[in-house]
Amino acid sequence: MKQLIQGLHEFQTNYFTTHRELFELLSQGQHPRVLFITCSDSRIDPNLITQTKPGEMFIIRNAGNIIPPYGATNGGEGAAVEYAIHALGIEDVIVCGHSHCGAMKGLLKLSKLEEDMPMVYEWLKHAEATRRIIKEHYQSYEGEDLLNVSIQENVLNQLENLRTYPVIQSRLKAGKLQLHAWVYEIESGEVMEYNPVQGQFIPPRTQFARATWITPEQQERIFKGSYNAH
Ligand SMILES: [Zn+2]
Repeated sequence: MKQLIQGLHEFQTNYFTTHRELFELLSQGQHPRVLFITCSDSRIDPNLITQTKPGEMFIIRNAGNIIPPYGATNGGEGAAVEYAIHALGIEDVIVCGHSHCGAMKGLLKLSKLEEDMPMVYEWLKHAEATRRIIKEHYQSYEGEDLLNVSIQENVLNQLENLRTYPVIQSRLKAGKLQLHAWVYEIESGEVMEYNPVQGQFIPPRTQFARATWITPEQQERIFKGSYNAH
């Protein structure tokens, strides 16, 4: 805690002072361009890996970057999705999983969780499609490969869950919404995005170039030259 208190002081005396105009602007309202859904894991910092500032991304975090299907719970995820799309007019949604995800490890040994962490067990039921797909389609996988494919399948399944929301369906139909599946690799700092045409995860491409919240120079930095302009 001492470190956090020192951090507060440092923030106020350094960062805040040099970015005073930004915070004054933010006090008048928010206009984020992206809804970023990721895991609660402490090793992911959405603003750091995308080099975005306060006010640029609306963020939902929970164990396993999971969005329960519409009507499945009264949790905060649905409310945050609805607010982000309807009230804030966000047009890009990213579900970002990550390497070494503890929630996905739990999903792969679900029966053990039921006794030790019953709430996590219940929560992971919203990733049941992931568990079933892995069990029935990836029998030859094991160890890290099994975990990595689970992480990828899960972000895709959470996009499917997102599509069950009326507000999402309506905006998709109007052509005013893009859904993106990302996986962030902790050890390399790289992000891979699912490409539906190729059916695989590859370095993110240009659908993002049109977004103004992030400059081409920032993209270059983020994707370390693997960014592929079209
Ligand atoms: Zn995780």
